[in-house]
Order: sequence, then structure tokens, then C-alpha cells
Amino acid sequence: MLDELNELYQQTILEHSRHPRCFRVLPEANRTAEGNNPLCGDRFTIYIRLEKDVIVDISFQGAGCAVAKAAASLMSEEMKGKKVENAKAFAAIFQDMVRTGTAKKETMGELLALAAVHRFPARIKCAILPWHAMLAALEGETKPVSTQEMT
Ligand code: ZN
Repeated sequence: MLDELNELYQQTILEHSRHPRCFRVLPEANRTAEGNNPLCGDRFTIYIRLEKDVIVDISFQGAGCAVAKAAASLMSEEMKGKKVENAKAFAAIFQDMVRTGTAKKETMGELLALAAVHRFPARIKCAILPWHAMLAALEGETKPVSTQEMT
């Protein structure tokens, strides 16, 4: 699949999947959630340190395909320092982007690399999984979330 992606996008995704940012356990996390994508085998835990309504730190651990890992890495970088309401709004825009392939560069920044995923329907859940887990963590969800439950 990656061969078919625009080269620039491919580089961003490969770079983040090989050298993921924020890829660690966060001992001071007060919110965590696990996300599974059984169709691909992606499995990640998202760790969040929430203070008042701000994500002061976020990290992830787990294993998955290049798209899922890059999505988790790019998401963690982007969500750090965001207010919960802004993180939720951003997650909605991201999910729309990977389904339609359209988004504004000034909104998405590096995450725009994942817009190309919309051409590969089987990969959409890979890209969305970390966001799904992040939202579950913010909601205080304790049971693992699965992309199987997604509509
Ligand atoms: Zn995957």
C-alpha cells in the first residue's frame, strides 16, 4: 500500500513509524485506554496526563502497522498541550479527513500525510484507532475499545 502513496506522504508515515514520537509508558498518566484493530492486528495503549481540562502529556505503547504507528505518533505530538474540547474537535476533523481525503494543511500540519489513507479503505481503521483510544481515555473509559465497534 505504501508504494502507492504520494512519496512525500510515504516519507512522513515511514519516518514516524520507524521513529515514533512519544513512544513510551507515561508513569504519571491519570487516563489510559487500550485500542485494538483486530482486522489488522494493531494494538495500542494511549497514556494521558490530564490536568484540569488540558492534556499536559500524552504517549503511547503497542504494536501495529506503519499507518497505525505513524497515526499514533503524529497524534501524540499534536495533542500535547491541547484542551480536551479542542482535542475532541481535532479528532473529529481527522476522522473526517481519512474518510474523505480532504482537509486544510493549516489545520492538519504533518497529519495531512494520512489524508491519502482514504484511498485504502482497509487502512482507515488503522489511522483512526489511536484517536479512538485517545477519546476513550479522555472519557475515562476502562474497557479496551475496538475498531469493530466503530461505525
Ligand atoms: Zn493497521
